[in-house]
Amino acid sequence: MSWSPARLTVLAGPSGVGKSTVAAMVADRHPEVFLSVSATTRAPRPGEVDGLNYQFVSREEFEAAARVGQMLEWAEYQSNLYGTPRQPVEDALGMGRPALLEIDLAGARQVRDAMPGALQVFLVPPSFADLRRRLEDRGTEADAQVAGRLARAEAELAAADEFDFVLVNDQLDRTVVELARLMGLK
Ligand code: 5GP
Repeated sequence: MSWSPARLTVLAGPSGVGKSTVAAMVADRHPEVFLSVSATTRAPRPGEVDGLNYQFVSREEFEAAARVGQMLEWAEYQSNLYGTPRQPVEDALGMGRPALLEIDLAGARQVRDAMPGALQVFLVPPSFADLRRRLEDRGTEADAQVAGRLARAEAELAAADEFDFVLVNDQLDRTVVELARLMGLK
């Protein structure tokens, strides 16, 4: 199978598996890639920059944008809304740039319905214990939130076979090279 590089790729996978790191590294090594910046109603974590990691918006702003179709997909995760602003992705694809979305399982399913040609990649941890360690070590969430994220991760991992490809994130560099290869990047 050969991929045309100017296409949409979805990178999904449970919280804590390393999606953001992998996506940022692919975009860094392949500047032609448009890495979508999601909108979210969640509060910024220390060090997160508005417009870079996320567009941090109010629930009212988010809902208004979603209502008029400005989100390509969106989902609720731990009481916050997360979504992909549609226009920048369409602009990038229109210019022939490959676009990469780092989103959750619910969002990946919406993209699958709306854009069945998108490449769907699922990133999984080497083990569930590894995911637990990563989430705990990250230290960005309260214990209850870590527990919630792990419970959701367990359910999400069962959805791996919905995806075109499953990548095990055991060695970061190899994962990045492999995702770039699946995206048809040179
Ligand atoms: P976090 O709070 O850890 O940044 O993100 C929580 C979850 O929301 C992660 O699984 C992340 O991939 C997902 N997420 C981030 N942006 C989007 C988005 O635009 N749409 C959807 N559906 N999920 C997103």
